[in-house]
Amino acid sequence: MQPLELSAVDLVAAIRQGDITAVQVAEKFLDRIDKLNGPINAFLNVDRDRALARAADIDARRKAGKPIGPLAGLPVAVKDALCTADQPTTCASKMLAGFRPPYDAEVVSRLRQADAVIVGKTNMDEFAMGGSNENSAFGPVKNPWDFTRAPGGSSGGSAACVAADMATIAIGSDTGGSIRQPAGLCGITGLKPTYGRVSRRGLVAFASSLDQIGPMTRSAADSALVMETIAGHDRGDATSLADAVPRYTSMLEQPLTGLRIGRVAEHFGAGLDPEVARGVEEAFAAFKAAGATIHDVKLPHAKYGIATYYLVAPCEASSNLARYDGAHYGHRAEPGKGHRAEPGKGHRAETTRGQRAEPTSEFESPLVEMYCRSRAEGFGPEVKRRIMLGTYALSSGYYDAYYAKALRVRRLIRQDYIDAFQSVDLIGGPVSPTPAFPLGEKTNDPLAMYLVDMYTVGTNLAGIGGISFPCGFTRGGLPIGFQLQGPALSEPLLLRAVDRYQQLTDWHLRRPKLPA
Ligand code: GLN
Repeated sequence: MQPLELSAVDLVAAIRQGDITAVQVAEKFLDRIDKLNGPINAFLNVDRDRALARAADIDARRKAGKPIGPLAGLPVAVKDALCTADQPTTCASKMLAGFRPPYDAEVVSRLRQADAVIVGKTNMDEFAMGGSNENSAFGPVKNPWDFTRAPGGSSGGSAACVAADMATIAIGSDTGGSIRQPAGLCGITGLKPTYGRVSRRGLVAFASSLDQIGPMTRSAADSALVMETIAGHDRGDATSLADAVPRYTSMLEQPLTGLRIGRVAEHFGAGLDPEVARGVEEAFAAFKAAGATIHDVKLPHAKYGIATYYLVAPCEASSNLARYDGAHYGHRAEPGKGHRAEPGKGHRAETTRGQRAEPTSEFESPLVEMYCRSRAEGFGPEVKRRIMLGTYALSSGYYDAYYAKALRVRRLIRQDYIDAFQSVDLIGGPVSPTPAFPLGEKTNDPLAMYLVDMYTVGTNLAGIGGISFPCGFTRGGLPIGFQLQGPALSEPLLLRAVDRYQQLTDWHLRRPKLPA
């Protein structure tokens, strides 16, 4: 038996039946990580000893006839944006280097309770800001299909480790596409659940009205399995939904006959790579052959998605990231290394008698100096750009023109989806305008990088569900992704539609050629 290639569903069954032990499984994956993580850089931390101890405990319980959880022995990789009490949590930032959270994220606790084996923490764009993983303070992740290309981001490490068989499933987070886009570029299945479906407690906040955690797996059936563990109400997250969690795995079988899938003509306009367009059209044809009907729908405000997202997200980020100042949280600059101001420049503190004191540095006080230098040293350039954008757009005089206006447009974007879902059940289209792009191609052009998110941000702005999965390959051998979006709490339908597609096709079973 080759556990590296089994689906999560099959692997869990094999362990439960005793065909293979959890320790054997963990060893296989940890060896694979040892071999491949050097070149791919998908993991920021691997916890070999704990993973093996955990697996041994599961085996012992199984042998003793004691109950084991629904994910018993399944190797799971967790994005480094989720707090883990027993492993560092850095968000791929120097700001949080070496940080050990005092508690587990809710999703991590649920995974542990289900007896999953957490093998390590995955690389990402710093604070989840980016679409290529090149914003990690710890080096970019390589796309397993072509090491010269980006895996996408921000959950690039999670996507790459599943694509390269270094974990069976991974957990990602998606604020504007960070589960779906890397899943698309790495040829795996990624689900962004409805806002609030999965608890965000213990997820390092980026943009709180958009952030959502979800599974990154090889198939929709595997995502359904993971969702049964991680979805559900959490009193510790005020935005988590109280709705009962469906049995996703038992809702996959029903045929697609009569399913109405919307197609947005504008999604096939300028900027879409022709090979991606071809793959996506073929997937529409496959859905049709499976009994679905395809209908034209309009999302008239989708064209404002990028502008809206890149105001709302940085505004929320600038507020969320204010806590990293070297005192409350995060890296603290060493005292005494301050830059001395030239005489006459910098802030002069007022003395008590109203006279001006001679400046000692460009900062008004040692405390402010510590804050400023800690943030200057701890954050990378993209995070700083977002903080500045957000702070500017929230500042008095600009708030109405930018932030308040963006919120109004967000509402229109959301209403577009509500209207479209009157006449169709799901909306299909590309995940990303191009296949995986070369590392370095967009690093000096933030706008080009932002435009990569044109098809994914709407889902987050509307708070609905979206899933991405492979629907073909380019002539150069790169995966092409398809995205389905559905109304709030439509996860059972999204998973079923993709599972049916995956029963009829084998794109999701293809693997990159990597050393055995
Ligand atoms: N690429 C988007 C951004 O840079 C989305 C990131 C995300 O979903 N975390 O903000």
